Amino acid sequence: MKRTIRDLKNIEGKRVLLRCDFNVPLDNYGDILDDTRITAELPTIDYLLKQKVKLIVCSHLGRPKGYDKYLSMFPIAVYLMKHFPNKVKFCNKVVGNEVNVAIEKMKPGEMIVLENLRFDEGEEKNSPEFVAKLARLADIYVDDAFGVTHRKHASNYGVALKLPNAIGFLIEKELNVFQKVFEHTDHPFVAIFGGAKVSDKLNLINNVLDKADAIIIGGGMAYTFLQAQGINIGDSIVSLDQVDNAKDILEKAKEKNIKILLPVDHVALVGGRAKKVKQLEKGMVGLDIGRKTIKLFTQEIMQAKQIIWNGPLGKYEDSRFKKGTMKIARAVAKSQAYSIVGGGDSVSAVKESGVADKINHLSTGGGASLKLMEGKVLPAIEVIDTL
Ligand code: ADP
Ligand code: MG
Repeated sequence: MKRTIRDLKNIEGKRVLLRCDFNVPLDNYGDILDDTRITAELPTIDYLLKQKVKLIVCSHLGRPKGYDKYLSMFPIAVYLMKHFPNKVKFCNKVVGNEVNVAIEKMKPGEMIVLENLRFDEGEEKNSPEFVAKLARLADIYVDDAFGVTHRKHASNYGVALKLPNAIGFLIEKELNVFQKVFEHTDHPFVAIFGGAKVSDKLNLINNVLDKADAIIIGGGMAYTFLQAQGINIGDSIVSLDQVDNAKDILEKAKEKNIKILLPVDHVALVGGRAKKVKQLEKGMVGLDIGRKTIKLFTQEIMQAKQIIWNGPLGKYEDSRFKKGTMKIARAVAKSQAYSIVGGGDSVSAVKESGVADKINHLSTGGGASLKLMEGKVLPAIEVIDTL
Protein backbone atom coordinates (compact mmCIF):
# COMPACT_ATOMS: atom_id res chain seq x y z
CA MET A 1 0.00 0.00 0.00
CA LYS A 2 1.31 3.38 -1.01
CA ARG A 3 1.37 6.15 1.57
CA THR A 4 -1.46 8.60 0.94
CA ILE A 5 -1.94 12.16 2.14
CA ARG A 6 -4.22 10.79 4.86
CA ASP A 7 -1.19 8.99 6.32
CA LEU A 8 0.82 12.22 6.62
CA LYS A 9 0.68 13.32 10.26
CA ASN A 10 1.83 16.54 11.97
CA ILE A 11 2.23 18.41 8.73
CA GLU A 12 0.90 21.77 9.90
CA GLY A 13 3.15 24.57 8.70
CA LYS A 14 5.19 22.21 6.52
CA ARG A 15 5.97 23.08 2.90
CA VAL A 16 4.24 20.55 0.64
CA LEU A 17 5.03 20.33 -3.07
CA LEU A 18 1.94 18.99 -4.87
CA ARG A 19 2.37 17.77 -8.46
CA CYS A 20 -0.96 18.09 -10.29
CA ASP A 21 -2.01 17.36 -13.84
CA PHE A 22 -3.50 20.70 -14.85
CA ASN A 23 -2.83 20.08 -18.52
CA VAL A 24 -6.18 21.63 -19.55
CA PRO A 25 -7.17 22.92 -22.98
CA LEU A 26 -6.91 26.73 -23.22
CA ASP A 27 -7.93 29.12 -25.98
CA ASN A 28 -5.71 32.00 -27.12
CA TYR A 29 -7.27 34.32 -24.54
CA GLY A 30 -6.28 31.98 -21.72
CA ASP A 31 -9.83 30.79 -21.15
CA ILE A 32 -10.04 27.25 -19.82
CA LEU A 33 -12.12 25.19 -22.25
CA ASP A 34 -12.53 22.13 -20.02
CA ASP A 35 -11.87 22.28 -16.27
CA THR A 36 -12.34 18.54 -15.56
CA ARG A 37 -8.69 18.07 -14.59
CA ILE A 38 -8.81 21.00 -12.17
CA THR A 39 -12.07 20.05 -10.47
CA ALA A 40 -10.75 16.50 -10.07
CA GLU A 41 -7.85 17.87 -8.04
CA LEU A 42 -9.86 20.12 -5.71
CA PRO A 43 -10.43 17.48 -2.97
CA THR A 44 -6.69 16.90 -2.57
CA ILE A 45 -5.94 20.64 -2.49
CA ASP A 46 -8.79 21.29 -0.08
CA TYR A 47 -7.61 18.54 2.26
CA LEU A 48 -4.02 19.78 2.32
CA LEU A 49 -5.06 23.40 2.89
CA LYS A 50 -7.22 22.27 5.82
CA GLN A 51 -4.13 20.56 7.26
CA LYS A 52 -2.64 24.07 7.29
CA VAL A 53 0.34 23.24 5.14
CA LYS A 54 2.12 25.73 2.92
CA LEU A 55 1.00 24.30 -0.39
CA ILE A 56 3.19 24.65 -3.47
CA VAL A 57 1.27 23.56 -6.55
CA CYS A 58 3.02 22.64 -9.80
CA SER A 59 1.99 21.17 -13.16
CA HIS A 60 2.95 20.99 -16.79
CA LEU A 61 0.74 22.51 -19.47
CA GLY A 62 1.03 21.50 -23.10
CA ARG A 63 4.34 20.86 -24.81
CA PRO A 64 6.28 24.14 -24.67
CA LYS A 65 9.86 24.40 -25.92
CA GLY A 66 11.08 26.89 -23.35
CA TYR A 67 8.94 29.86 -22.24
CA ASP A 68 5.63 30.24 -24.09
CA LYS A 69 3.17 32.91 -22.97
CA TYR A 70 0.25 30.88 -24.33
CA LEU A 71 1.11 28.03 -21.98
CA SER A 72 1.43 29.97 -18.74
CA MET A 73 -0.12 28.51 -15.58
CA PHE A 74 -1.57 31.95 -14.78
CA PRO A 75 -5.13 31.16 -15.99
CA ILE A 76 -5.13 28.09 -13.78
CA ALA A 77 -3.93 30.12 -10.80
CA VAL A 78 -6.79 32.57 -11.46
CA TYR A 79 -9.26 29.68 -11.51
CA LEU A 80 -7.93 28.51 -8.14
CA MET A 81 -7.99 32.08 -6.75
CA LYS A 82 -11.71 32.17 -7.46
CA HIS A 83 -12.22 28.80 -5.83
CA PHE A 84 -10.06 29.48 -2.76
CA PRO A 85 -10.45 33.26 -2.21
CA ASN A 86 -7.49 35.02 -0.56
CA LYS A 87 -5.48 31.83 -0.31
CA VAL A 88 -3.79 31.59 -3.70
CA LYS A 89 -0.77 33.36 -5.13
CA PHE A 90 0.89 32.91 -8.50
CA CYS A 91 4.64 32.92 -9.07
CA ASN A 92 5.78 33.46 -12.65
CA LYS A 93 8.86 31.28 -12.20
CA VAL A 94 9.26 27.52 -11.85
CA VAL A 95 12.22 27.45 -9.45
CA GLY A 96 14.84 29.88 -8.22
CA ASN A 97 15.15 32.87 -5.97
CA GLU A 98 11.79 34.52 -6.65
CA VAL A 99 10.06 31.25 -5.83
CA ASN A 100 12.07 30.85 -2.63
CA VAL A 101 11.18 34.37 -1.51
CA ALA A 102 7.50 33.85 -2.29
CA ILE A 103 7.44 30.61 -0.32
CA GLU A 104 9.20 32.31 2.64
CA LYS A 105 6.29 34.73 2.84
CA MET A 106 3.57 32.08 2.84
CA LYS A 107 1.34 31.43 5.85
CA PRO A 108 0.06 27.96 6.75
CA GLY A 109 -3.17 27.21 4.87
CA GLU A 110 -2.11 29.21 1.82
CA MET A 111 -1.00 28.04 -1.59
CA ILE A 112 1.21 29.21 -4.37
CA VAL A 113 0.96 28.13 -8.00
CA LEU A 114 4.26 27.82 -9.84
CA GLU A 115 4.79 28.49 -13.55
CA ASN A 116 4.64 25.66 -16.13
CA LEU A 117 7.19 22.97 -15.19
CA ARG A 118 8.03 22.31 -18.83
CA PHE A 119 9.35 25.87 -19.26
CA ASP A 120 12.46 24.34 -17.68
CA GLU A 121 14.17 21.84 -19.95
CA GLY A 122 15.22 19.84 -16.89
CA GLU A 123 11.64 18.70 -16.29
CA GLU A 124 11.24 16.13 -19.05
CA LYS A 125 14.94 15.22 -18.91
CA ASN A 126 14.66 14.54 -15.18
CA SER A 127 17.90 16.48 -14.82
CA PRO A 128 19.56 16.19 -11.38
CA GLU A 129 19.98 19.99 -11.16
CA PHE A 130 16.30 20.68 -11.73
CA VAL A 131 15.28 17.87 -9.38
CA ALA A 132 17.50 19.36 -6.65
CA LYS A 133 15.98 22.83 -7.15
CA LEU A 134 12.44 21.47 -6.91
CA ALA A 135 13.24 19.34 -3.88
CA ARG A 136 14.70 22.36 -2.08
CA LEU A 137 11.33 24.12 -2.28
CA ALA A 138 9.54 21.72 0.05
CA ASP A 139 9.64 19.38 3.06
CA ILE A 140 7.20 16.85 1.65
CA TYR A 141 6.27 15.78 -1.88
CA VAL A 142 2.77 14.72 -2.93
CA ASP A 143 2.07 13.25 -6.36
CA ASP A 144 -1.46 13.46 -7.71
CA ALA A 145 -0.68 13.85 -11.42
CA PHE A 146 -1.97 10.46 -12.52
CA GLY A 147 -1.77 11.31 -16.24
CA VAL A 148 2.04 11.50 -16.15
CA THR A 149 2.82 8.62 -13.79
CA HIS A 150 4.06 6.54 -16.74
CA ARG A 151 6.78 9.17 -17.30
CA LYS A 152 10.04 9.58 -15.39
CA HIS A 153 10.12 13.36 -15.15
CA ALA A 154 11.84 15.60 -12.59
CA SER A 155 8.65 16.76 -10.89
CA ASN A 156 7.30 13.28 -10.26
CA TYR A 157 9.92 10.53 -10.49
CA GLY A 158 12.98 12.62 -9.65
CA VAL A 159 11.66 14.63 -6.74
CA ALA A 160 9.87 11.66 -5.15
CA LEU A 161 13.27 10.04 -4.64
CA LYS A 162 14.49 13.11 -2.73
CA LEU A 163 11.67 13.91 -0.29
CA PRO A 164 9.33 12.12 2.11
CA ASN A 165 6.29 11.52 -0.09
CA ALA A 166 2.71 10.37 -0.58
CA ILE A 167 0.03 10.10 -3.25
CA GLY A 168 -3.04 12.33 -3.42
CA PHE A 169 -6.68 11.27 -3.63
CA LEU A 170 -6.77 11.05 -7.44
CA ILE A 171 -3.95 8.56 -7.77
CA GLU A 172 -5.25 6.64 -4.76
CA LYS A 173 -8.62 6.24 -6.46
CA GLU A 174 -7.06 5.03 -9.74
CA LEU A 175 -4.96 2.45 -7.91
CA ASN A 176 -7.89 1.23 -5.83
CA VAL A 177 -10.16 0.85 -8.83
CA PHE A 178 -7.71 -1.24 -10.85
CA GLN A 179 -6.74 -3.29 -7.81
CA LYS A 180 -10.39 -4.09 -7.20
CA VAL A 181 -10.86 -5.24 -10.79
CA PHE A 182 -7.71 -7.32 -11.17
CA GLU A 183 -7.20 -8.64 -7.66
CA HIS A 184 -10.73 -9.06 -6.36
CA THR A 185 -12.33 -9.93 -9.66
CA ASP A 186 -16.10 -10.36 -9.86
CA HIS A 187 -17.32 -12.79 -12.53
CA PRO A 188 -18.42 -12.70 -15.26
CA PHE A 189 -15.63 -10.29 -16.12
CA VAL A 190 -16.01 -8.88 -19.62
CA ALA A 191 -13.20 -6.92 -21.32
CA ILE A 192 -14.01 -4.75 -24.33
CA PHE A 193 -11.27 -3.65 -26.72
CA GLY A 194 -11.29 -1.51 -29.82
CA GLY A 195 -9.43 1.40 -31.32
CA ALA A 196 -7.23 1.60 -34.33
CA LYS A 197 -3.97 -0.19 -33.68
CA VAL A 198 -3.44 -3.70 -32.44
CA SER A 199 0.28 -3.47 -31.78
CA ASP A 200 -0.08 -1.02 -28.89
CA LYS A 201 -2.88 -2.97 -27.33
CA LEU A 202 -1.92 -6.65 -27.39
CA ASN A 203 -0.51 -6.35 -23.87
CA LEU A 204 -3.96 -5.32 -22.70
CA ILE A 205 -5.47 -8.47 -24.08
CA ASN A 206 -2.70 -10.64 -22.68
CA ASN A 207 -3.22 -9.16 -19.23
CA VAL A 208 -6.89 -10.14 -19.13
CA LEU A 209 -6.44 -13.59 -20.69
CA ASP A 210 -6.09 -15.13 -17.24
CA LYS A 211 -8.87 -13.16 -15.66
CA ALA A 212 -11.70 -12.35 -18.05
CA ASP A 213 -14.56 -14.67 -18.95
CA ALA A 214 -15.24 -12.96 -22.25
CA ILE A 215 -13.25 -10.62 -24.44
CA ILE A 216 -15.10 -8.43 -26.92
CA ILE A 217 -12.98 -7.09 -29.76
CA GLY A 218 -14.36 -4.41 -32.07
CA GLY A 219 -13.14 -1.27 -33.78
CA GLY A 220 -10.11 -1.31 -36.03
CA MET A 221 -8.53 -3.92 -33.79
CA ALA A 222 -11.08 -6.54 -34.79
CA TYR A 223 -9.86 -6.80 -38.38
CA THR A 224 -6.48 -8.24 -37.46
CA PHE A 225 -8.31 -10.95 -35.53
CA LEU A 226 -10.78 -11.60 -38.35
CA GLN A 227 -7.86 -11.84 -40.76
CA ALA A 228 -6.25 -14.35 -38.39
CA GLN A 229 -9.41 -16.44 -38.74
CA GLY A 230 -9.16 -16.29 -42.52
CA ILE A 231 -12.18 -14.01 -42.90
CA ASN A 232 -12.21 -11.46 -45.73
CA ILE A 233 -11.77 -7.99 -44.24
CA GLY A 234 -11.79 -6.06 -47.52
CA ASP A 235 -9.69 -2.89 -47.23
CA SER A 236 -10.18 -2.46 -43.47
CA ILE A 237 -7.31 -1.46 -41.21
CA VAL A 238 -5.07 -4.40 -40.32
CA SER A 239 -1.72 -4.95 -38.64
CA LEU A 240 -0.26 -7.67 -40.79
CA ASP A 241 2.73 -8.12 -38.48
CA GLN A 242 0.34 -8.93 -35.63
CA VAL A 243 -1.76 -11.57 -37.33
CA ASP A 244 0.29 -14.39 -35.83
CA ASN A 245 0.00 -12.86 -32.36
CA ALA A 246 -3.74 -12.57 -32.88
CA LYS A 247 -3.82 -16.27 -33.80
CA ASP A 248 -1.94 -17.07 -30.58
CA ILE A 249 -4.40 -15.09 -28.51
CA LEU A 250 -7.36 -16.82 -30.14
CA GLU A 251 -5.79 -20.20 -29.43
CA LYS A 252 -4.90 -19.40 -25.82
CA ALA A 253 -8.40 -18.12 -25.20
CA LYS A 254 -9.80 -21.38 -26.55
CA GLU A 255 -7.57 -23.45 -24.25
CA LYS A 256 -8.57 -21.35 -21.26
CA ASN A 257 -12.23 -21.46 -22.20
CA ILE A 258 -12.47 -17.71 -22.57
CA LYS A 259 -15.01 -16.49 -25.07
CA ILE A 260 -13.73 -14.11 -27.73
CA LEU A 261 -16.44 -12.15 -29.51
CA LEU A 262 -15.68 -10.57 -32.87
CA PRO A 263 -17.89 -8.54 -35.24
CA VAL A 264 -20.30 -10.53 -37.41
CA ASP A 265 -21.43 -7.55 -39.47
CA HIS A 266 -20.16 -4.06 -40.23
CA VAL A 267 -20.85 -0.55 -41.36
CA ALA A 268 -18.37 0.01 -44.15
CA LEU A 269 -17.24 2.82 -46.37
CA VAL A 270 -18.03 1.72 -49.91
CA GLY A 271 -17.38 4.14 -52.76
CA GLY A 272 -17.46 7.09 -50.39
CA ARG A 273 -20.72 6.01 -48.73
CA ALA A 274 -21.55 4.30 -45.44
CA LYS A 275 -23.18 0.92 -46.04
CA LYS A 276 -24.34 -1.92 -43.79
CA VAL A 277 -22.67 -5.16 -44.83
CA LYS A 278 -22.51 -8.71 -43.54
CA GLN A 279 -19.36 -9.61 -45.40
CA LEU A 280 -16.54 -7.32 -46.33
CA GLU A 281 -15.04 -7.42 -49.80
CA LYS A 282 -12.39 -5.59 -51.75
CA GLY A 283 -13.19 -1.88 -51.91
CA MET A 284 -14.94 -1.91 -48.51
CA VAL A 285 -13.49 -0.40 -45.34
CA GLY A 286 -15.09 -1.58 -42.10
CA LEU A 287 -15.49 1.47 -39.86
CA ASP A 288 -18.18 0.44 -37.36
CA ILE A 289 -19.75 -2.69 -35.95
CA GLY A 290 -23.10 -3.64 -37.46
CA ARG A 291 -26.51 -4.18 -35.86
CA LYS A 292 -26.15 -7.91 -35.24
CA THR A 293 -22.76 -7.34 -33.66
CA ILE A 294 -24.17 -4.66 -31.37
CA LYS A 295 -26.80 -7.16 -30.26
CA LEU A 296 -24.26 -9.94 -29.74
CA PHE A 297 -21.92 -7.69 -27.71
CA THR A 298 -24.80 -6.19 -25.71
CA GLN A 299 -26.02 -9.63 -24.62
CA GLU A 300 -22.61 -10.44 -23.22
CA ILE A 301 -22.30 -7.03 -21.54
CA MET A 302 -25.68 -7.36 -19.84
CA GLN A 303 -24.53 -10.53 -18.04
CA ALA A 304 -21.29 -9.01 -16.78
CA LYS A 305 -20.52 -8.23 -13.15
CA GLN A 306 -17.37 -6.40 -14.06
CA ILE A 307 -16.32 -4.60 -17.24
CA ILE A 308 -13.17 -2.91 -18.47
CA TRP A 309 -13.24 -1.09 -21.77
CA ASN A 310 -10.55 0.51 -23.91
CA GLY A 311 -10.89 1.58 -27.51
CA PRO A 312 -13.91 2.84 -29.48
CA LEU A 313 -15.74 0.19 -31.53
CA GLY A 314 -15.72 2.29 -34.67
CA LYS A 315 -14.54 5.52 -36.19
CA TYR A 316 -16.75 7.37 -33.72
CA GLU A 317 -15.48 10.85 -34.72
CA ASP A 318 -17.51 10.45 -37.93
CA SER A 319 -21.25 10.51 -37.19
CA ARG A 320 -21.84 7.78 -39.80
CA PHE A 321 -19.69 5.36 -37.83
CA LYS A 322 -20.37 6.16 -34.19
CA LYS A 323 -23.53 4.18 -33.53
CA GLY A 324 -21.70 1.02 -32.39
CA THR A 325 -19.61 2.87 -29.81
CA MET A 326 -22.61 4.84 -28.52
CA LYS A 327 -24.79 1.73 -28.20
CA ILE A 328 -22.06 -0.19 -26.40
CA ALA A 329 -21.52 2.76 -24.03
CA ARG A 330 -25.23 2.70 -23.20
CA ALA A 331 -25.15 -1.06 -22.68
CA VAL A 332 -22.19 -0.79 -20.30
CA ALA A 333 -24.01 1.97 -18.42
CA LYS A 334 -27.22 -0.03 -18.23
CA SER A 335 -25.57 -3.26 -17.09
CA GLN A 336 -25.27 -4.09 -13.40
CA ALA A 337 -21.51 -4.45 -13.81
CA TYR A 338 -18.82 -2.48 -12.06
CA SER A 339 -17.38 -0.65 -15.06
CA ILE A 340 -14.11 1.07 -15.88
CA VAL A 341 -13.40 2.91 -19.12
CA GLY A 342 -9.85 4.03 -19.88
CA GLY A 343 -8.09 5.74 -22.79
CA GLY A 344 -8.34 9.24 -24.22
CA ASP A 345 -10.70 8.50 -27.10
CA SER A 346 -12.74 5.96 -25.16
CA VAL A 347 -13.43 8.41 -22.35
CA SER A 348 -14.43 11.17 -24.76
CA ALA A 349 -16.70 8.77 -26.66
CA VAL A 350 -18.41 7.75 -23.41
CA LYS A 351 -18.85 11.39 -22.44
CA GLU A 352 -20.43 12.06 -25.83
CA SER A 353 -22.85 9.18 -25.30
CA GLY A 354 -24.34 11.04 -22.33
CA VAL A 355 -24.08 8.11 -19.91
CA ALA A 356 -20.70 8.91 -18.37
CA ASP A 357 -22.27 9.31 -14.93
CA LYS A 358 -23.44 5.69 -15.03
CA ILE A 359 -19.94 4.32 -15.57
CA ASN A 360 -18.26 3.52 -12.27
CA HIS A 361 -14.88 4.88 -13.20
CA LEU A 362 -13.58 6.92 -16.11
CA SER A 363 -9.83 6.59 -15.94
CA THR A 364 -8.63 9.89 -17.33
CA GLY A 365 -4.93 9.14 -17.44
CA GLY A 366 -4.66 8.24 -21.13
CA GLY A 367 -1.34 6.40 -21.45
CA ALA A 368 -1.11 5.89 -17.68
CA SER A 369 -4.57 4.26 -17.60
CA LEU A 370 -3.55 1.88 -20.35
CA LYS A 371 -0.43 0.87 -18.42
CA LEU A 372 -2.57 0.07 -15.36
CA MET A 373 -4.93 -1.95 -17.56
CA GLU A 374 -1.92 -3.83 -18.86
CA GLY A 375 -1.01 -4.67 -15.28
CA LYS A 376 2.24 -2.69 -15.55
CA VAL A 377 3.96 -0.75 -12.80
CA LEU A 378 3.93 3.02 -13.22
CA PRO A 379 7.43 4.38 -12.51
CA ALA A 380 6.33 7.59 -10.76
CA ILE A 381 4.10 5.58 -8.44
CA GLU A 382 6.70 2.92 -7.81
CA VAL A 383 9.01 5.51 -6.21
CA ILE A 384 6.38 6.58 -3.67
CA ASP A 385 6.94 5.15 -0.19
CA THR A 386 4.91 2.15 0.91
CA LEU A 387 3.36 1.93 4.35
P1 ADP B 1 -8.01 5.27 -26.76
O1 ADP B 1 -7.56 6.69 -27.01
O2 ADP B 1 -9.31 5.22 -26.01
O3 ADP B 1 -6.94 4.42 -26.14
P2 ADP B 1 -7.41 4.51 -29.48
O4 ADP B 1 -6.65 5.78 -29.66
O5 ADP B 1 -6.66 3.24 -29.42
O6 ADP B 1 -8.36 4.62 -28.19
O7 ADP B 1 -8.47 4.34 -30.64
C1 ADP B 1 -9.27 5.38 -31.10
C2 ADP B 1 -9.21 5.53 -32.58
O8 ADP B 1 -9.55 4.31 -33.23
C3 ADP B 1 -10.20 6.56 -33.07
O9 ADP B 1 -9.48 7.57 -33.73
C4 ADP B 1 -11.09 5.78 -34.02
O10 ADP B 1 -11.48 6.54 -35.16
C5 ADP B 1 -10.24 4.63 -34.42
N1 ADP B 1 -11.01 3.50 -34.92
C6 ADP B 1 -11.95 2.79 -34.30
N2 ADP B 1 -12.48 1.86 -35.09
C7 ADP B 1 -11.85 1.95 -36.28
C8 ADP B 1 -11.93 1.26 -37.53
N3 ADP B 1 -12.79 0.26 -37.70
N4 ADP B 1 -11.10 1.65 -38.51
C9 ADP B 1 -10.22 2.64 -38.33
N5 ADP B 1 -10.10 3.34 -37.20
C10 ADP B 1 -10.89 3.01 -36.18
MG1 MG C 1 -6.42 7.58 -28.55
